[in-house]
Amino acid sequence: MYDVIISGAGPAGSKCAEVVAKAGYKVALIEKDVNWRKPCGGAVGAGAIEKYYPQLKQLNSTIINSVSMFSADYHKIKDTWEPKDSIVVDRLAFDNLLRTIAVESGATLFNENVSYDFILENDKKIGIKTKSPSGIKEYYGKIIVIADGMSSKLAQKSGLRTKWKTPELGIAKCAILEGKNKLEKSRIYIFFRAYKGYGWIFPLDENRFNIGCGTFGEDNLNYNLNNIYKEFINDPHIKKYCPESNYQEIWKGSYPLPSIGIIENCLFGDNILIIGDAAGFVSPISGEGILPSIVSGQVAAETAINALKSNNISKQTLKAYKKHPDIKNIIMNFRLKYSLVKFFFENKGEKINRMFMLAANDEDFKKQTFDLFFSGIYVY
Ligand SMILES: Cc1cc2nc3c(=O)[nH]c(=O)nc-3n(C[C@H](O)[C@H](O)[C@H](O)COP(=O)(O)OP(=O)(O)OC[C@H]3O[C@@H](n4cnc5c(N)ncnc54)[C@H](O)[C@@H]3O)c2cc1C
Repeated sequence: MYDVIISGAGPAGSKCAEVVAKAGYKVALIEKDVNWRKPCGGAVGAGAIEKYYPQLKQLNSTIINSVSMFSADYHKIKDTWEPKDSIVVDRLAFDNLLRTIAVESGATLFNENVSYDFILENDKKIGIKTKSPSGIKEYYGKIIVIADGMSSKLAQKSGLRTKWKTPELGIAKCAILEGKNKLEKSRIYIFFRAYKGYGWIFPLDENRFNIGCGTFGEDNLNYNLNNIYKEFINDPHIKKYCPESNYQEIWKGSYPLPSIGIIENCLFGDNILIIGDAAGFVSPISGEGILPSIVSGQVAAETAINALKSNNISKQTLKAYKKHPDIKNIIMNFRLKYSLVKFFFENKGEKINRMFMLAANDEDFKKQTFDLFFSGIYVY
């Protein structure tokens, strides 16, 4: 019997496992596949190293301190920021480092386990069932944390939230390419398009970069992801930064992400907490979800520890997760961003074209334009 079972060892689940295990509790961290590289741009907001993971320095990731953003008609605005600790990571190395930290803190990682249902006793959820290469497995625990991302089966089976509808998602495709390029190594590049969505190029090191694009909202249904990706990587304006014709494709993938903010009613139930993408911890305007997911993992862990200490794992106790100031801040931030999405992406990119044209000559307006897009990339 575990004190806490966590389904999903992404950034949210690994942080939660680390904190609960460090407090001396018995933790099972259940993961589908530690060799899966989550499709992601890999930009990790400032504060991740300083506040949550000083160990990230081991990855020698690119330190990012500036951004160039382009409207669909290629007006460009640039910004720099302090402190200089935003980074771009390769998700395979990053996720495995975070899992290692959780294991070194005392959690037990069960790889090749796909969780698919709860174990019930008198309607109470007393554990989870997984499919593994050696058959069905059962894990029993006092508190169950759902951290298995946007496609979580358990989140739906918990009854706390329903399946996302296509317009409630972002859908993006990206690749890691290797070869000579003209990117500044401390700068990320974001390209708005004539659809709801954007493309990006994030430098990973001297020769490798992460490139991708995606749509969200109703444009998921209006555009074909493979076509817009092909159009994006072959666009002459993009080619200025990566001009070679024969980049080596190290990896590529596509994946959806929640894009309507946090599903506030789903965060907790009797002995259940939902964290990270599974609960919608992704900025509805920028798609930034790594740092918000880590914050949700940290707060869920603290909530679970207090509940175990007081021997009360009911939803009355676990609601402290949603009431925590850090979670309230993210909820408010994402609510505000979601309300601005329609305005920001109006008229097939025309609003952004005009905003960038004005911002190029007005420092204050430029700052506000950046703040509109980057939710909490500088905070937490
Ligand atoms: C294309 C794309 C680009 C993105 N770019 C950025 C970016 O640049 N910066 C940023 O901050 N955010 C970005 N995001 C969002 C970011 O990837 C997520 O918000 C973040 O990874 C959420 O962390 P998580 O731990 O909640 O979920 P995940 O990272 O999705 O982790 C879930 C874990 O659960 C495991 N799992 C899944 N199902 C099961 C199961 N049934 N049983 C057991 N284990 C399971 C998975 O293997 C995975 O390890 C991007 C997303 C996409 C799709």
